[in-house]
Amino acid sequence: KVAANKKPDWLKIKLQGGETYAETAKIVREHGLHTICNSGMCPNKTECWNRRTATFMILGDVCTRECRFCATRTGKPLPPDEDEPRRVGESIALMGLKHAVITSVTRDDLADGGASHWATVVRAVRAANPDTTIELLIPDFKADRRCIDIVAGSSPDITGHNMETVERLTPLIRSRASYRTSLLTIKLISESGIIAKSGLMVGLGESDDEVIGTLNDMYEHGCRIVTLGQYLRPTLRHWPVSTYVEPEKFEWYREQALDMGFDYVASAPLGFMKRMRRMDMGIIKYE
Ligand code: SF4
Repeated sequence: KVAANKKPDWLKIKLQGGETYAETAKIVREHGLHTICNSGMCPNKTECWNRRTATFMILGDVCTRECRFCATRTGKPLPPDEDEPRRVGESIALMGLKHAVITSVTRDDLADGGASHWATVVRAVRAANPDTTIELLIPDFKADRRCIDIVAGSSPDITGHNMETVERLTPLIRSRASYRTSLLTIKLISESGIIAKSGLMVGLGESDDEVIGTLNDMYEHGCRIVTLGQYLRPTLRHWPVSTYVEPEKFEWYREQALDMGFDYVASAPLGFMKRMRRMDMGIIKYE
């Protein structure tokens, strides 16, 4: 592990916006859409947008929670935008995406946590893009089976819910979320018949044993695809980076997860999607 005061070379990325980047930015802007790439100040944005990959963030850009690692704004969100499903579907068609990823802020203010809006978005995206695979990254919906069944009823191809960190750090880093609730959310996704995915950030202060323990818990709750990546502090107000985990350690995590039985593991300091692109799982066709 490398001390947290100096960013290592493997995390340095070229920020170069090309023609495709500008086109993606234009489609997102003209359709009045939010992306986690912007709201989350994602370091992979240039690379992803140059490849026409954007993660759409529905239900607004104001979250009812306030996690210590996340750059999304917190406050009182607006009601769901009824025209948003159409615009997301149209943008995905304009970008020509073969694989679309959709996420949202957490809407604890809505009775169904936004589940019915999620389902409407998935159906609109499917109608406008019948050949595109749809991957969702959903909030925990307080592990309410009814909400998860509403989302699953719209038949996304993959549905993820991120554990984000290990059990000990969860109360320090995530807001109004619990480790057990997130595991239950993953279990409910898997029981609904949809492929369940989850993600973990490392470098927040966790030990190897804690990472392995969390991977085991995820697997036991039905998670079959997992991503591991380096936590990067979005601003100085956020939780500090404890360590920059070396690429070799990511490889070791990957091997451990594959040995546990996960079907697909993307474990790298940056650029999970790049690693996922060549996955030959029949339904995932990144790029
Ligand atoms: Fe960010 Fe936490 Fe809200 Fe998710 S729930 S958008 S991680 S503040």
